[in-house]
Amino acid sequence: MLLQKTSKQTNPKGEFAKITFCGGVSSVTGANFLLEVNKIQGIKKMLIDCGMEQGSDKAKEYNASPFIFDPREIDMLLVTHAHMDHIGLIPKLMKHGFKGIIYSTPETRDLCVYMLEDALKLITEDAKHKNIEPLYGPEDTRHAFDVWKTIPYHKDFILFDLDEHSEKTKKEINKDSVVSVYLKDPGHVLGASMFEIRINLNHKLRKFLFTGDLGNSPNPILKDTESIEGVDYVVMESVYGDRNHEDRSTRVQKLQVAIEDIIDRQGVMLIPSFSLEKTQEILYEMNKLFEDKIIPEIPVYLDSPLAAKLIPIYKKYVEDYNPEAKARRKKGDDILNFKNLRIIGSAEESKAILHSKNPKIIMAGSGMSTGGRIQHHELSYLSAPNTILLFLGFQALGTLGREIYDGAKSVKIYDHEIKINAELRKIDGYSGHKDSDRLQEFAATAGDSLKKVFVTMGESKSALFLVQRLRDYYNIDAMHPEQGQSVILD
Ligand SMILES: [Zn+2]
Repeated sequence: MLLQKTSKQTNPKGEFAKITFCGGVSSVTGANFLLEVNKIQGIKKMLIDCGMEQGSDKAKEYNASPFIFDPREIDMLLVTHAHMDHIGLIPKLMKHGFKGIIYSTPETRDLCVYMLEDALKLITEDAKHKNIEPLYGPEDTRHAFDVWKTIPYHKDFILFDLDEHSEKTKKEINKDSVVSVYLKDPGHVLGASMFEIRINLNHKLRKFLFTGDLGNSPNPILKDTESIEGVDYVVMESVYGDRNHEDRSTRVQKLQVAIEDIIDRQGVMLIPSFSLEKTQEILYEMNKLFEDKIIPEIPVYLDSPLAAKLIPIYKKYVEDYNPEAKARRKKGDDILNFKNLRIIGSAEESKAILHSKNPKIIMAGSGMSTGGRIQHHELSYLSAPNTILLFLGFQALGTLGREIYDGAKSVKIYDHEIKINAELRKIDGYSGHKDSDRLQEFAATAGDSLKKVFVTMGESKSALFLVQRLRDYYNIDAMHPEQGQSVILD
């Protein structure tokens, strides 16, 4: 059994807050943090994210283990964004008795409808295949949306007022008994938010910031990450805490060259792609390259029903775009669509791609080749020397994507041993996460008010490197908590 360790720190006199690192520690995935507010007027318990661990067998064990808190005691769940490693266990939380309210941006809620519908399908199929009880059922997913409310960016929003008599009076944001939140844009995926939770402790205002994932700004479609001046405590991600990305200005050229090369060699370009954000970003970039006549139009197969369902949500929230994307849209460009884009629906259509002419580009999920239609295409094309396998994002330990990325000569897919003769390329300029230098600069935007940074959501090596850098270069008090550890703050 994992993660049953809790800290022996004794509670201080007076009011305090306690953060417990329930998941997403020493691991990129599985984000799950518990923030308890202990005030004279009462106690409230909030979760920030309820994500699934992805990749290894350890991840499966984590997902199946009981929560280290009692879901029936949680008052509220705040959801930073719609990636599975931040939302995947929400229906499990419902199943185990969560009776509170879920909050996110409207964008995130819209995206989660499809993300969780897709997850339910995978979990149900997997359980049937293994003849085990599924982690949760359709009623749990439905129930989550019954209690799921939305908060827009940049608005002071009262989460609760611990003064029970205040129901009758008008609630004021600055009242001592009020806990409020303010949402900022991390520039990671559509609708992603950082939660700045404001709590009065012993009559002093304290700001706790949870970053969720931090985007690798500038993003092709979305706005840049906002700064976080004035916060006291930060719980931040560290996926790329120990390394820097290549120069982002070359990323479009690299994509262009890869497409030109695939045309030259009359081959197939496979792009394992996350359904949320990465796919839409690459479609945006391809739309520009094709419609601005920079490269010849070749067929692009989007073989991800989930990614296709998310496109209309991207089109709906134009206000979240950066100025360039907004301007293109204003000129009438359908920014995620072009003449040579084929959106694939059924499994039969997916199989038929094999018989279509080269050159061609196939984008399909999952982004780390852990399942989904990309595996079928990898089975068909990885042994061909005129294939390019293009990596655009992080490949977690234990995934097929990581095995290939690390240089395996052959891999096993659906019981077939397949030789890898394809050329591997990567463009990490399209990573959805900030690199080490940018993470440090981001933390420093907090300024003098900053008391402590908790470095999470990264493999240990990465998190510990970032902790050291924050201490050495920025004189910031930083730590990498252990899984299950609680820290008391006042
Ligand atoms: Zn994410």
